[in-house]
Amino acid sequence: MEFIRDNADWFYLIGAVLFIMTLRGLSGPKTAIQGNRYGMIAMAIAVLTTFFVAENPVIWMIVGAMAAGAVVGIARAKTVPMTQMPETVALMHSLVGLAAVLIAVAAILHNNKLLEIGAEALTANNISFHAMSKVHLFELFVGCFVGAITFTASVFAYGKLAAKKWAKTISGAWVKPLQALIFIAMLAAGIYFFLTGNMTSFWAMTGLALVFGWVWIAPVGGGDMPVVVSLLNSFSGWAAAGIGFTLENNMLIVAGSLVGSSGAILSYIMCKAMNRSIINVLFGGTMGAAAAPAAGGGAQVQRNHRSGSADDAGFLMSNADSVVIVPGYGMAQGRAQNAVKELANTLKEQGVTVRFAIHPVAGRMPGHMNVLLAEADVPYEDILEMDEINSDFPATDVVLVIGANDVVNPAAKDDPSSPIYGMPILEAHKARTIMVIKRSMATGYAGLDNDLFYNDKTMMIFGDAKKVVEDMSKAINGTGH
Ligand code: NDP
Repeated sequence: MEFIRDNADWFYLIGAVLFIMTLRGLSGPKTAIQGNRYGMIAMAIAVLTTFFVAENPVIWMIVGAMAAGAVVGIARAKTVPMTQMPETVALMHSLVGLAAVLIAVAAILHNNKLLEIGAEALTANNISFHAMSKVHLFELFVGCFVGAITFTASVFAYGKLAAKKWAKTISGAWVKPLQALIFIAMLAAGIYFFLTGNMTSFWAMTGLALVFGWVWIAPVGGGDMPVVVSLLNSFSGWAAAGIGFTLENNMLIVAGSLVGSSGAILSYIMCKAMNRSIINVLFGGTMGAAAAPAAGGGAQVQRNHRSGSADDAGFLMSNADSVVIVPGYGMAQGRAQNAVKELANTLKEQGVTVRFAIHPVAGRMPGHMNVLLAEADVPYEDILEMDEINSDFPATDVVLVIGANDVVNPAAKDDPSSPIYGMPILEAHKARTIMVIKRSMATGYAGLDNDLFYNDKTMMIFGDAKKVVEDMSKAINGTGH
């Protein structure tokens, strides 16, 4: 115990290096599992060291809170389906924000209590006491308001992604002035607290920050939620770093900064993938605002399309030289990844070149498709990112779109009036033949009709992704009906 306390900085340094190695590992599918292991070791080192470093820790409270958290966390991790990961992540960010607020409140109340008792009495009794410096007040001010915004904004993002009724998108000319008003009032209260230490202004700032988090994110459309979740991830990191300063814990400062900066980089990458700026996402548009939050809820469109059976499709694919599979949210929803892998293997056995094309925002969370394909043991070399595969579509015999919609919508390229105009897409429409598996003609997440489905080269194969893909494999193997 003494040893850990005396060498805490060394342990923290090892933890920080391991956290950096974690991020490095998580940057590629091959090294992601190892990256996760580093993260677990780093977190264990951080928690244990902090435990021993604490002055007079209230053991039952710490162990009790950790045990309760572990029970809830393990139970949730075991049961959460892949499709609900984005909202679960949003909910977890909200807890980091809440923790930042509670710690800031606790630090201030604790300090005020000490002031009441009297600094002199404390020093006389050999109890260490430092009056709060301006820097300290500033850290509390920033940590608390960033945490409060993160908390309510993440709760809203959770509600929106989980299609809860209370997470209503708001719109209207009044929204921006209201946002500005609350933000300015929040800053004014925070600055007054910073200058005077006045507690009423502290509570006002916290309350206003909680309201601001909600009204800030509520106008953002469903289609932009992935960027918001990643941005809130970044915010939760900065809030944690703020707490780190308050608690004078170097590990928390480093870990919070790593989360903060990696979340900011991810938000930037996602904005680039959608050809939007972060300002435009947060304050500009309402893409997907009118859309059904889950697939299957969109409007039916009366236009001509061609449909075929899994048998027809299987036959066509087995005679092709090259097939590119484009997975989307429907593959995740239908849990079809293993069946898709079997289909790819079956086609390969017939001498067909099979590759997978991944759009950065396919599915409902960053890396969603990569995770599912990795789970099904699809070889990494068969999985290509949008930039790598887009130029190959014109020379591709068959593109098989499995439950993807927005990410292959040509309106993003051709229709300047479309809300997704400018968003880079997988150019499936350029292939010689296009096959689309989905259950109906319903719209995808952004609530938009898709010209690809009415293209002369397109064959729609209606049904649940898993069932259709299994039927295709059976047809190719000659064991079908
Ligand atoms: P979409 O939501 O655009 O389309 C998915 C399609 O899958 C639907 O049209 C639906 O049609 C079909 N589908 C659903 N369930 C099944 C099933 N069981 N079997 C077969 N088909 C099914 O998905 P994309 O992946 O193309 O695009 C992702 C969208 O989600 C983008 O707009 C993106 O911005 C947004 N988003 C992305 C996040 C991310 O981080 N990746 C997070 C949150 C949102 P039907 O009902 O007819 O079957």
